[in-house]
Amino acid sequence: MSYTQEALKALIEKNPNQPEFHQAATEVLESLEPVVEQNPQYEKNGILERLTEPDRIIMFRVPWVDDQGKVRVNKGYRIQFNNAIGPYKGGIRLHPSVNLSILKFLGFEQIFKNSLTGLPIGGAKGGSDFDPKGKSDREVMAFCQSFISELYKYIGADIDVPAGDIGTGAREIGYMFGQFKRLTNSYEGVLTGKGLTYGGSLARKEATGFGLVYFAQEMLASRGESFSGKTVVVSGSGNVATYAAQKATELGGKVVAMCDSTGWIYDPEGVDLAAIKQIKEVERKRLSEYKNYRPASEYHTDGVIWDVPCDIALPCATQNELHLDHAKTLIKNGVIAVAEGANMPTTPDATIELQNNGILFAPGKASNAGGVATSALEMSQNSQRLSWTFEEVDAKLKQIMVGIYRNADAAAEKYGHKGNYVVGANIAGFLKVADAMVAQGVV
Ligand code: GLU
Repeated sequence: MSYTQEALKALIEKNPNQPEFHQAATEVLESLEPVVEQNPQYEKNGILERLTEPDRIIMFRVPWVDDQGKVRVNKGYRIQFNNAIGPYKGGIRLHPSVNLSILKFLGFEQIFKNSLTGLPIGGAKGGSDFDPKGKSDREVMAFCQSFISELYKYIGADIDVPAGDIGTGAREIGYMFGQFKRLTNSYEGVLTGKGLTYGGSLARKEATGFGLVYFAQEMLASRGESFSGKTVVVSGSGNVATYAAQKATELGGKVVAMCDSTGWIYDPEGVDLAAIKQIKEVERKRLSEYKNYRPASEYHTDGVIWDVPCDIALPCATQNELHLDHAKTLIKNGVIAVAEGANMPTTPDATIELQNNGILFAPGKASNAGGVATSALEMSQNSQRLSWTFEEVDAKLKQIMVGIYRNADAAAEKYGHKGNYVVGANIAGFLKVADAMVAQGVV
């Protein structure tokens, strides 16, 4: 049995009942096969065993009081996975589905994603099974303050820098930052995605979606294609989806469908993004409201968004949202590219189906890295006590995304998988971390 297969087998045995973690680790480790074969020092140094075991997992109780005066209790987590190349960095997910398996898959992916950005950031992820949906601002604040009252001991600008993810936006980061500042009496860049009046970076909100489209643009250009005149379907309607749709539209694409967890909209004239922002960012309501802005649009609660014919599909909602059947439908309808804005939205069999049919496929750890890259730019600005203009940050973001595309493309070609960005991203992300781990000894 090869070193990668042995490491994978041990990981699955040692971490039972963690299907999402197994899925993410299987994809990465299998694509590393040629690299670890050619570089025996990785096996000798136990790199795969060390990379797949988090540095530490912090788990804690998060008690808070709801608007009826009742005490509620959620689970809190922070997984500090690997800090070989920089302080731990990664988002905080607030969603009822959050568990150890999901956070381990996300933290593991984050190591490679952060490495791909070329910036000095390690991999981490955290979160809670708390659901901000339907909660009052005061309830969200009570939760965030309680969450940070425990987590503050383990984070810091040079230690671990959490950020947003599903369910955690500027409101939550604000409450968390306020509580950290109060408990530690220090004003530091301990969180990213902060508000613009207290250390946040311009273009951070737009960065994941914009970066996704910049990456997709490079990938399309490799086949002489572009967004211009293309029909685009974007799943989700959160931060990533909204700004991916905006940039795709700016580049001449027409976004005809978006969704949330209760339904999807179809607007053949092109989705009105001002309406989406009003519904989602301002009113925090459901997409069923969209019809009030665009009476000619359709709202569906049955069927799936992937049934809508498109040239370019951007899954930006959540993990495992695009299955084999959906991939087959997309192919039948003539899709030319699928680029992941969410983390691991495409199931492994769907990914293979797309690749086998010659569809351009961008894995999230490369194509959605613009968010965390811009978080690292926020950290730089905080350290310098400066703030850069929107144009400066956006130009850096674009340069980073083009760099990630080129590195992933070159690594895929070097190891005999030209055009396979999954393999290329895994290898390019891995090498930097693995070499840093070897250099730093057995820790
Ligand atoms: N949650 C985002 C991600 O999945 C951003 C993390 C960050 O900015 O630290 O990469």
